[in-house]
Amino acid sequence: MVRPYSIAVDLGGTHIRAALYHGRDNTPLRRSRGLTPQTNDQAPILDALADAIRSVLPPGDDIAEISIAVGTPGPVDPFQGVILSAPNIPSLRNLPLRDWLAGRFPTNILVGNDANLAALGEFTFGAGQGAMDIVYLTLGTGIGGGVITNGRLLLGNRGLAAELGHVTIDPLGPICGCGHPGHLEALASGPAIAREARTRLAAGAPSLLSQLFRTDPLAVTAEHVADAARQGDQLACTLVADMAAVLARFIADCLAVFSPQTVILGGGVMGLGELLLAPIRRGVANHAMAAVYLEQLTICAAQLGDDAGLLGGLALCLNPALQPGQAHV
Ligand SMILES: [Zn+2]
Repeated sequence: MVRPYSIAVDLGGTHIRAALYHGRDNTPLRRSRGLTPQTNDQAPILDALADAIRSVLPPGDDIAEISIAVGTPGPVDPFQGVILSAPNIPSLRNLPLRDWLAGRFPTNILVGNDANLAALGEFTFGAGQGAMDIVYLTLGTGIGGGVITNGRLLLGNRGLAAELGHVTIDPLGPICGCGHPGHLEALASGPAIAREARTRLAAGAPSLLSQLFRTDPLAVTAEHVADAARQGDQLACTLVADMAAVLARFIADCLAVFSPQTVILGGGVMGLGELLLAPIRRGVANHAMAAVYLEQLTICAAQLGDDAGLLGGLALCLNPALQPGQAHV
């Protein structure tokens, strides 16, 4: 049942953001943004989440008129509404979030992986509009993924599919945050590009970043690399080219597995814009298994920025066919 109001919540490692929407209007009526309590105790985090929802409740506060969708990082079982683990919020392990929220907000509650919801947001309101088959990657402090196939989110058993950042690219590569070597996230995320910059600066590579590195090596971030690349710095341009090559090979693999019409790249690293997109497009064209995969393919930047996850929550509230456990239409 579609309710008149939707509340979408993005539960992140540093912030909890919430927005209230009416009908299909994707401009929020109310918004809130607060800090995620940094604690090993679940209770303060859950209380902050409930406060975020209360702070955007519509006038009249009739809870039965509202659907609530919460996006959380890491493995989530959207069928059961359970956070299985959250890498940036360690205390939220095996947490039956939907049942906990239902005890406080007796209405339709949906829970999903944040990158999956961001994919759904871009599909419904952003760069993926009009496409039925989408691969979405968010390139930030980690790499998240979402796959839309035949107009539906690919969930897999327990909803654990589409962890695209944790595909092995180089078995001898650096260790990923998840503990395994050479995953995409360990090679093409923001921290990965910063780490590689520091390694090459330490080896004496000349760069606009050398002075900063000598002053404080740990201060060198992906944003600095991006700025230097925009100024034509050779080291920074090489790092961006290497990153584009990794992503291009990976996206070419995705063409063979999912045959998307649209590949959408979001996240902070996409501040590089065409500097990253153009070599990715060229690389994908080189690596695609056959030219037919390229004929209707668009590779583009995400359009919704930080709101992609919230708008994915709205999309989930609005469309019962997209909700986990619903019969395929
Ligand atoms: Zn990993």
